[in-house]
Amino acid sequence: MKVAVKLEVIKQQINEACQKANRNPEEVRLIAVTKYVSVERAMEALEAGVTNLGENRDEGLLAKWEILQDKPVWHFIGSLQTRKVKNIINIVDYIHSLDRLSLAEEISKRAGKPIKCLIQVNVSGEESKHGMEADEVLTFVKQLSGLENIQIEGLMTMAPLTSDEGVLRRCFRQLKELRDEVQALHLAYAPCKELSMGMSNDFSIAVEEGATMIRIGTALVGDEN
Ligand SMILES: *Cc1c(COP(=O)(O)O)cnc(C)c1O
Repeated sequence: MKVAVKLEVIKQQINEACQKANRNPEEVRLIAVTKYVSVERAMEALEAGVTNLGENRDEGLLAKWEILQDKPVWHFIGSLQTRKVKNIINIVDYIHSLDRLSLAEEISKRAGKPIKCLIQVNVSGEESKHGMEADEVLTFVKQLSGLENIQIEGLMTMAPLTSDEGVLRRCFRQLKELRDEVQALHLAYAPCKELSMGMSNDFSIAVEEGATMIRIGTALVGDEN
């Protein structure tokens, strides 16, 4: 199926979820995750009207950036090794995977301007998931005060791989509560408005629970691997 057709279906699902939750669909930014597909497929997505692309590895991001340059808004969504920060720092618009102080220090040092970051939180507490524990987030945000090039735009999580709606909702609600707690600190460098949550399998529920950024790969652009 063409990306344009899938995009229409997904937009419809976003609209329905917004209606249920009494939200404005314009509050939800759709990020097409292109990590499993070619640059041609990414271009097809842009032509269909997608404006935000997400990649989870520096190689993948650089390869697509060579060709697409500044056409899309670029989101880095994968776990980021400190030594790779320099490869992507001048290209990305958002980093969704800030999860430790040493990474924040490297980003701030290498960046020539404030970088929009989201803190990745392991809400579900699963061993395998990256991200910091929920109860570490407030302390972490305060520790960032001296880093002039870090801007905390929001929080990101990956929900557990389950079809149990209750588990998913609890996860998304916890992230939202945490987001509100960070906002309540009223720190100039941490407006923390964004909630990056929801993927192919769970984005409707995430939108109902307040997602402002959803990261969709397979359901939108497919998987060419
Ligand atoms: C791959 C990936 C996605 C997209 O996953 P799909 O299930 O294909 O939609 C979203 N977020 C992160 C962090 C990812 O690594």
